[in-house]
Amino acid sequence: MNAEKLKSNLTLLRERLTGQRSSQKETLASESGRFTARAPSHMAEQASEAQELDMIVSRLNSVSETLALIDDAIDRLDAGQFNVCEECKGEIGERRLTVQPWASLCVKCQRKLEEEGLS
Ligand SMILES: [Zn+2]
Repeated sequence: MNAEKLKSNLTLLRERLTGQRSSQKETLASESGRFTARAPSHMAEQASEAQELDMIVSRLNSVSETLALIDDAIDRLDAGQFNVCEECKGEIGERRLTVQPWASLCVKCQRKLEEEGLS
């Protein structure tokens, strides 16, 4: 994969996620308005609506996190370091960049980080 192809992948993803984020924000705004406006008569229903709101919020957060990662990746790309692992300076594999174009670590370092995070 070359830098240009990767950049167009990232840009596309970025556009798609930005669109997703604004529609989720709208949903969240209208849902929470509806939620607070309603009289507290149906406890069970309210609980499930609260859960639904939680889900929207967490989805929104993960979209924002991914967007931040994509921005970082585009910065690295512009600096000419699109497939260099931040940890070991090794090359990030093509397969990994296809699945996760914003990856900043190679598979080995990512795995190490996750293992350290778990212990
Ligand atoms: Zn590495």
